[in-house]
Amino acid sequence: MNWLDLAACRFEDPELFFPLTEDGASLPQIERARQICHRCPVIRECRTAAVRHGESDGVWGGLTARQRKALFARPADRRTRGSGDTG
Ligand code: SF4
Repeated sequence: MNWLDLAACRFEDPELFFPLTEDGASLPQIERARQICHRCPVIRECRTAAVRHGESDGVWGGLTARQRKALFARPADRRTRGSGDTG
């Protein structure tokens, strides 16, 4: 069985998980998606797959792209960010 077969989002509107932005008017949408993720039995598998595949959009594993990037940045990326890049 594929982990996607157990995904809590499999009967949800996929667009819920792809907000236009990560702030402002999109925050309620992101929160709704994250609530689904946090009751998903395969949240870890989903998060790992998103990081492994470099998913640059959408809520995966309960995290937005920005959150994934911050949490799973390679050490070299963190050094770059800490040297003046306010990105
Ligand atoms: S963690 Fe969220 S996006 Fe990933 S499979 Fe589960 S419900 Fe879907």
